[in-house]
This record gives sequence, structure tokens and C-alpha cells, in this order.
Amino acid sequence: MDKAQNILKVVFGYDSFRPLQKEIIQNVLNKKDTLVIMPTGGGKSLCYQIPALIFEGLTVVISPLISLMKDQVEQLKQLGIKTALLNSSLSQYDYKINFENVKNQKVKLLYLAPESLMKNDIADLLKSIRLDCITVDEAHCISEWGHDFRKEYRQLGNLRNSFPSAVCIGLTATATPRVQEDIIKNLNLATPGKFLASFNRENLFLNVIPKRDAFQQAVDFLNDHKNQSGIIYCFSRKQVDNLHDDLSYLGFSTKPYHAGMTDEERNKNQDLFIKDEVQIIIATIAFGMGINKSNVRFVLHYDLPKNIESYYQEIGRSGRDGLRSDCLLLFTYSDIAKINYFIDQKEDDKERLVAKAHLNAMIKYAESEICRRHPLINYFGESYQIDYCGMCDNCLVEEKEMTDITIPAQKFLSAVRRTGEVFGANYIIDVLLGEESDRIFHNGHQNLSVYGIGKELNKKQWQTLVHQFVRKEILIRDLEFGSLKLSQKSSNILLNKEKVLGFVRESQTSTKKLKLSKGKEETYDIELFELLRKKRKELADNKNIPPFVIFSDKTLIQMAADFPQSEKELLNISGVGKNKLENYGSIFLTLIKSYCTRKNISAKTPALQHTAASKLKLKNNSDLRHIIVGEAFNKGNSIDKLAEEYNVKSQTIITHIERYANEGNKIRTDGLKEKISLPEIEHKKVFEAFKEDGTSTLSNIFEKFNKEISYIDLHLLRIIYLNDHT
Ligand code: ADP
Ligand code: MG
Ligand code: ZN
Repeated sequence: MDKAQNILKVVFGYDSFRPLQKEIIQNVLNKKDTLVIMPTGGGKSLCYQIPALIFEGLTVVISPLISLMKDQVEQLKQLGIKTALLNSSLSQYDYKINFENVKNQKVKLLYLAPESLMKNDIADLLKSIRLDCITVDEAHCISEWGHDFRKEYRQLGNLRNSFPSAVCIGLTATATPRVQEDIIKNLNLATPGKFLASFNRENLFLNVIPKRDAFQQAVDFLNDHKNQSGIIYCFSRKQVDNLHDDLSYLGFSTKPYHAGMTDEERNKNQDLFIKDEVQIIIATIAFGMGINKSNVRFVLHYDLPKNIESYYQEIGRSGRDGLRSDCLLLFTYSDIAKINYFIDQKEDDKERLVAKAHLNAMIKYAESEICRRHPLINYFGESYQIDYCGMCDNCLVEEKEMTDITIPAQKFLSAVRRTGEVFGANYIIDVLLGEESDRIFHNGHQNLSVYGIGKELNKKQWQTLVHQFVRKEILIRDLEFGSLKLSQKSSNILLNKEKVLGFVRESQTSTKKLKLSKGKEETYDIELFELLRKKRKELADNKNIPPFVIFSDKTLIQMAADFPQSEKELLNISGVGKNKLENYGSIFLTLIKSYCTRKNISAKTPALQHTAASKLKLKNNSDLRHIIVGEAFNKGNSIDKLAEEYNVKSQTIITHIERYANEGNKIRTDGLKEKISLPEIEHKKVFEAFKEDGTSTLSNIFEKFNKEISYIDLHLLRIIYLNDHT
């Protein structure tokens, strides 16, 4: 294991393992078959790449997509690892050279498509050399129960039997037990060690807002993510094309991707996206499987996904580098009807029911008012125990006082009754607002007494109220048609026998208010980052490889925060290993040094940098609550007192303080300590863990201490730790 740790640092440039990586590598090195289930971006590749470098013989990696393979091989080559691939995309000449290199044992990792294994020349080649490890990436492709079955994968079982002395690893991001069983059975894994990582992706910010003017909402969202890579998912091909036309007309860098295009067009657009030449891909669900791009910063769901599994896969394509990424879903009840229409085309009764149940779980997620990580992660059978993640809209919305909403409820219920209990929420709202639509006139509903009696609230406020009515079962929503019906509880309310309490939200026009900075790495010099990015793109274009293969965004951001001045300092940056230092170190160092000279940045003075950076940030952010809270706290007010004063949970106050501290402000730590339940003598252990594992995620620390230290304590300890170490 010392060897593994050393390779992690020297070759990959990383300081510590992610959760489970160490245990998995240990198991593989002991030549025990292994099944790894980890979400996208969890770091599965390292689990076979590091053993491959330790084993004497060859490691074969089976991967379903040629495009994915090419990127991975390129990434490994950049790290100085001897890697080859053999597949039909190669010229005869390249094929021959790679073949010879494997034969002469000049290669540590060989990437193959499953069908290549059936070829005689390759089968013979593998038999003629020492094969230590067989890795099957995207192993769910072997199961007919997965969403991505490939028949070529079926032949892989024989492979395992032909090489009894090699260890076999299956890797997947699919969590269903049925698929896991299939993998073990079909790959003939011998009593495998099974490693199931948490499906919580802490760096994804989850946000759902009611869809009103979808196009304008999309434009606002994109304007908040200028110069960043992202994906927009739509329901239909036509919508993809329209949105692409409209957004590119406004100057956004977009390309479409859907099944109605030729393979060639699709590959071209995907390639432009991977190479950072196009910022935004607008796609139907077909897009993303072959994408290894680490710096996707946002995913916008323009329409409701059909089920949680696809939603999770799609948002999971962002933030692979571990940096924050924004996932926004535009939600409206009328999308449900669209999906139901397609479900109803299914002939098989059971299939139809399953699809409806899946859709229902998705709707529940979208309607949820508690932390979004609960419905999401529980869906995968994992119990999520934290009340407050701090990285979803529901956790960040300030709790407001419940108010009496009986009158709006009565108005709404009467409108439902008068229109015959056959319409959906949006139509009823239009009636209450007195909209002059054809549909209303056609139905003669402009003559109803309820027409136009709801103008004191806007459309969005009504929509959030409807969510609450449905949740409180004052109204029943028909799952099939989305229409609203009265329930048993309705009559008491209409008769004024019962009051309704709930929230009326202020009209929130954009998603800006919810922004929160998380983790230290976000305070960096934006100008320098852009320079580094430009240089990276130039180098990548010369070599015809994707930019993230050279350095990830995360690595560049850290350079722009730490201003390394020497090779030694550069090696301290996560993602800079020996080989990359040799190839690119001097180019990037020169750039950083000349920038520092120009800007008069002499030595590393983190405190000052942070203040400068936080000023930059403030300009873009009108929400100053955390500063007010931070200052009040420093003046001696306790967390509990502030929570009372602002009428929020104390966790919200802690989030504000954390943000205030992250922006480089010193914090009164005694006030934090009084809130920590862990005895003070134990704090050191946690600080040691921060030192070892870094502070960007808390979940590995949480696991490290066997879930015995609460997240609140960990948040507080992290603030103290960072306060003392910057
Ligand atoms: P997966 O195959 O599980 O989707 P990858 O293996 O592609 O994920 O890893 C995702 C990203 O995380 C890659 O950029 C990888 O280099 C990075 N990564 C993996 N392990 C670590 C680690 N221990 N420390 C830092 N970064 C890591
Ligand atoms: Mg992978
Ligand atoms: Zn949350």
C-alpha cells in the first residue's frame, strides 16, 4: 500500500485517496475479484490504474465506447503511463505498433472494446504474455436489467475463465441490486469483494424552480454561468433544435445533440464540447454516456426527466472534478402530462405501471420541501441521515413564518370546483388571475365568479401554494392527467371550519439569491485563471487532445489561488505529478511568475488574497446576509441568539458564518466551540484528518470517524481549522 500511496502522489499528483479507493486497491492487489459501485466522478479509474502500475504483467481494460477509451488513454499518456488501445478505429500501422508493444511487454494498460476480445489475434496475444488483471468498465452493460445493455458484453464471462490467474474487476455507477447480481454472475467473479460508495455527490447544487417563462429562465441561468461548460436537457428533438437556434441567436455558444442527427454530426458536436470549443450542449437524453469531461459546471433540465435514475445520471455528468456545479430543474405540472402521454403508448401493462411509479417518484422529488438529498439518495436505497446539506435550494431558502393561507386556499378550491375538477394547476391559476386566454373563453370560464379574484398573488406564488395544497391533501392531483380534484378535507376549508397554514413566498425572480460559496478553492484570481486556461487550450490544440487531459480546471484554480513560484510549490498543487511537471511545469510557472510580477504579488499572502478575492465576489452578489450575520457573530452574539433573531435554524446561521469565513474573514472561534458537542480534546483528531484529506468535502471525514461525529460539528470544526490555517 505504500507503493500505491506513492504512485498517487508522484504519478497522479493527488494527496489522498477518495473514500473506498484505498480499500479497493488493497483488495485488487491481494488478487481478489472486486465489484466497485461508485457514482460518476467518484474516482473509479484509479482503482485499477494504480494496481496496474504495481502488477508485473498487463492489465486489460474493457470499455464500451471508443471515444471514451481514446480520452482515457490520452490522459494516462500525459501522466507518463505506458498505455495502448487496440480497436477498429486505428490505422493498420498504429494497430501493428500497439500490438507489438503489448507483445514485448512495453505496455502496462491495454484498452479493448468487448468485440475485439473475440478476435483470434488478440486472444492469442493475451495468452502469450502475463496477464495480471482484467477490468470491465461500465460493467452494467452486461445486464439486461440495466439501462444500457450491450450484447457484446455477454461474451466477457468466458474471458475470466480463460485467465484464472488474473484478478477481475467490474466497475459501474449503477446501484440497483439486480444489476449488481447480474454483473457478478455474468462475469464469473469469484466471491468478489463488493464496494458500494455513497451516492451523495456533495458538490452538486440541487435546485428546482417552477417553470414559468422557460426561455427567459434559461437565459438568466446561462448568464449566471458565463464562460462555463454545461448541458441543457430537453424532452424532444424539436425543442433541442429550437432552443439551439434561439440561444445561439443571442450569442450563446451552443450545439445540438439528439437521435435525429447523423452519427457524424453528433460526434462532431460532442468533440467540440469536449475540447472547450463549444460551451453548451443542448441534448435529449441520448447525450453524455461517452463523456469524461471533468469541468462541466452546470446541468439545466429544461423539462422534467422521466425518472430519478436518469435525472441522477444527467446531473452526475457535471462536477466530476469535485468543484461546485449547478443543477437546475424547471418544473411545471404540464410536463407531467407530456410524459404520461408517452407512457400511455406502451403496450405492456406492467411496463406502463413501472414507468408511472418512476415518474411519480420524480414528481415527489421536484415537489419536496425538505432537503433534496433525502428523496434523491433514499431512492437508491441508501439512508441519508443529514437534515441539512447546505447545497440545495430547500436548505438555503430562509425559513419564513407560517402564515394563514385559508383565503387563497378557499379561492383556489372554489375555482377547482366551479371548473368541474378536470383542469390542471396552471389553468386554474389563469382563471384566478383573470387571464384572457382562448381556452378560458372557449370554456366560458370568464363568466365564473372566481374569474380574476386571485390577482393579489402572482403566478409563481400561486404555484408554490398549489404544491402545498397537494402536499397537505387539500387537493388531489390525478397522477394520470395532472388534473386537480377536491378531497375530503376541502369541504371543511370551504365551510370555514378549518384554517390552512403555509408559506407565501416572495416573488423570486432569479436563482441568484441562493448562491453560496463552498470550500476554499473558490477564492482564486479569476484573471490569472483565464490566462492559465488560455495557455492550456493552446497546448491542447497543438497536440489535438482535450484541454482537461493536460490539467483539470480544479488544478488551474488552485494555481490561481496559491501562485506557486517554484517546481516544488507546483508539485503541491493537486493534479500535478512528476510527468506533468516535466512536460508543462516550466510553461505554467513562467506564466504565473510573470503575472505575479506584473500585479505586484510578491510572496504567498493568503489572507490578503482572500480579501481581494472576496471583494471581487461581492460585486457580483447582492446577497449580503452572511456578512451581516458574520459581523454580528464576531461582536459576541451567539449562534442561537442570531438564529432566534432571524427566525432561522441555527444551521442556517452556521452556513452564513462559514461563507463569511470562506471569504477570508477571521472568525471568533470561542463562539463556535460552544456549539460543538464533541469534547475539545478530540478536536485534534479531526484537524489531523483535515490535514490529511483536505477540507473540500466532509463526507470522507464523516466516514473516517464511523459517522460518529455529526455534520454540524464537522462544519464548525472546519471553520475553526481554516480560520487557524490561513
Ligand atoms: P468515475 O470513473 O468514477 O466516473 P473518474 O475515475 O473518471 O471517475 O474520476 C473522476 C475525477 O476525479 C478524475 O478527474 C480523477 O482524476 C479525479 N480523482 C480520482 N481520484 C482522486 C483522488 N484521490 N484525489 C483527487 N482527484 C481524484
Ligand atoms: Mg469511469
Ligand atoms: Zn439540502
